[in-house]
Parts: sequence; C-alpha cells; structure tokens
Amino acid sequence: MITIERIPEPDGSIALWSVETALEGSAIGRRLLGHEQPVRASASVRGAAHAICWSSGRTLGNVEIFNKDVLTALPGQRGEDVEIGCDLVEAGRMRNGARRWWCRTHQAHWGTKTDIAAAHSSGHLLCSSHTQPMSFVVDPPSVRLDQHAEVGVWCSMPPAVTSAGVPRRRRPKIHVHIREEVAGKKVLDADVDALIVQYGTSGDLFGGTDPTTVNITPPAAFEFVTALETGRTMGYVACRDCGAPHLDLGEFGRVAHTKHLCGNCGRDGIRTAEPIASTPLKPLHDQFTSEPAFVDVDRTLNIDDYPGAPFAVWASTPAVLWTSDRPQERGIHVHLSIDGKREIDDTYGSVIYRGEELRRADLLTAMIAKTLV
Ligand SMILES: [Zn+2]
Ligand SMILES: [Zn+2]
Ligand SMILES: [Zn+2]
Ligand SMILES: [Zn+2]
Repeated sequence: MITIERIPEPDGSIALWSVETALEGSAIGRRLLGHEQPVRASASVRGAAHAICWSSGRTLGNVEIFNKDVLTALPGQRGEDVEIGCDLVEAGRMRNGARRWWCRTHQAHWGTKTDIAAAHSSGHLLCSSHTQPMSFVVDPPSVRLDQHAEVGVWCSMPPAVTSAGVPRRRRPKIHVHIREEVAGKKVLDADVDALIVQYGTSGDLFGGTDPTTVNITPPAAFEFVTALETGRTMGYVACRDCGAPHLDLGEFGRVAHTKHLCGNCGRDGIRTAEPIASTPLKPLHDQFTSEPAFVDVDRTLNIDDYPGAPFAVWASTPAVLWTSDRPQERGIHVHLSIDGKREIDDTYGSVIYRGEELRRADLLTAMIAKTLV
C-alpha cells in the first residue's frame, strides 16, 4: 500500500512523501514528491518571487504561484502555451474519507490511489490535467493606483483591419496607459502579459488573498470587456472557505450560476443567492470608474488620404479600469505611420477606408473573432 505522509517545512509548505508499506506494516520505500502549499500564502511568501499563470479555453481563473518547486521549474520568465508544474493545496476529503488535494495550476483534484501510485513510481506530483498548455509571467508589472494621476487598463485584441490585410489571430493581452498628470503625456503605453493592480495600502490584512490586490490576466480582461460591451451583467463573490476572489471564465463567465467551484482551494462551497458570473474585475471597475459616461468621438479620418501608409484599425473598447474623471472616448482607434514614424494614434468617430465608412460594430466583431481565447 502507498500512502502520503505530510511533513511541515519551516517556510509554511508541507513536504509530501509517498510511503510504501508491506502488508505487515513495515515501510519498504519512501520518496519526496514535492510540496503542498498553504491555501493562503503568508506575507513573507507573498513578498517573494511569484508568477501568475492562466490558460485559454477554461472556466476557472487562476491564482498566483508561490510554490518554489513550480517556480524554479518554469521555462523562463514568461511563456505561452507551455507545460508547467502542478501546485497542490490541501482540499478536504474525498467521499471515502481519504485526503485530497487541489492543483491550482491546472484546476483539478489530486490524490486518488492511482494518482499516488503514479507519483510514487515517477517521483512527480502530476494532476490529471498537467499537460494542459499554460501561459505564465514571473513577477508581472504592478501598478499602485494612488500613485498616478490616471491609469487606464484595457484588453488588447488584434486589430480589425490593417494595411497588410487581415491580421493574424492572437491571444489577448493587457494594455496599460499611465499618466502622471490629468490628460497629460502617457508615461506608459504598452501591452503586458498580465498586470497586478494595487488599490490599497492595508498590507496583508486578509492573509494570502489580499483583497487590495487584483490580478488582471488576459482571459479575465477579455471576458469582462466582452461583458461590458454586450451589456452582460457580471457579479462578484469570494470563496467562503479561503476568501479567494472567484473568477468565472469561458462558458461560466457567460452563463450565470449559483454554485461555484473555487479555483484557489478546490472547494465548491461558494453559493450565491442570485445566479451570477463572478469576476474580481467587476468591483475593481465599479469602485474606480468615477466617470461612467462615454463620449462618441466626432473627428473624422480618411485613410485613403495616406496612400501606402501602414496602418491598423481597432474599435475602441471599454476600459477594464479607468481612474480618470474624463469620460472614455468611444469610436474607432487608428495607428498610421508615415516614413516609419507613427503620425496618427487617435480615436475617430468616422473612418473612411477604400471609399467606405468603417462600422465600429463590425470592427469589434472582427477583433473578437481574431482573438484566441
Ligand atoms: Zn496540475
Ligand atoms: Zn462561478
Ligand atoms: Zn477557496
Ligand atoms: Zn493607440
């Protein structure tokens, strides 16, 4: 028989050993498999290096990875659609009373007899979904909202139309603008893999799930922006057991439900009185949107006036986060370069291309269709 022995380590993690015992009870083999993490990371762990990971096509969002075994085995500082290690936390008991674990990386339970036997022979803790392609970034950029005059965060999608023809499909990213003066020059205007937003200074009051920090990952941003754009209602709930913010993605992000499975601790004890699709971006967005109105831009641009100039066109999309008192602009966003220099980077109400007026709704549909989620 093979069982799991849990031995606490000084850093708060728990070493998981597999122990094979003979029928009469004597141990005939032991093997260190890896480390179980606390469900809530301590302040010291939170301050150390960590990563955020996510993947496309699934229904639960991810939490940060603090697990040193997983971090040291990551293939680089960032990755897209790669295999990364399992990150186990204790997750109560199975129906037969045996202990079970939850893999936060791949969002699957672990701990059946088959799982344990496989780990004992291979020396690796692998959940049933460990081959799922994942994207990750180590130490993602973080922004403190109280330290900048204006912060804007969007879901970056591929352009709808470019001078080079139909753009290729790509994964969504996070687009960030930071201004140190209201309506001033942007000090940051970039696409990033993921973003940590810090909106408070209360420290580690709530354990590992510090609610003053929100992680924005591409799938979460995409889900939220498409909800804003289509008028789909989003809600928010935290896990009753571990306090982690609950993030619904994919089908769960589109179909409201009352019973939610926690991506951080693997327990399904979250119930909401009303059916909702939950995202921590909802309270973040609502709390910091001081100006909810949009202005429809009335500038016009005729791309045909710039023959041969490379350009790209997007529908403007609502911001995930917009801390400015100025209303957001709604229209058609254009980048256009002349002699290698970006001459146009602006939003228009009317854009003519090949003699026809582009429609914002069509552009948005094209962008969503070209976004791989
Ligand atoms: Zn796993
Ligand atoms: Zn849910
Ligand atoms: Zn939980
Ligand atoms: Zn631009």
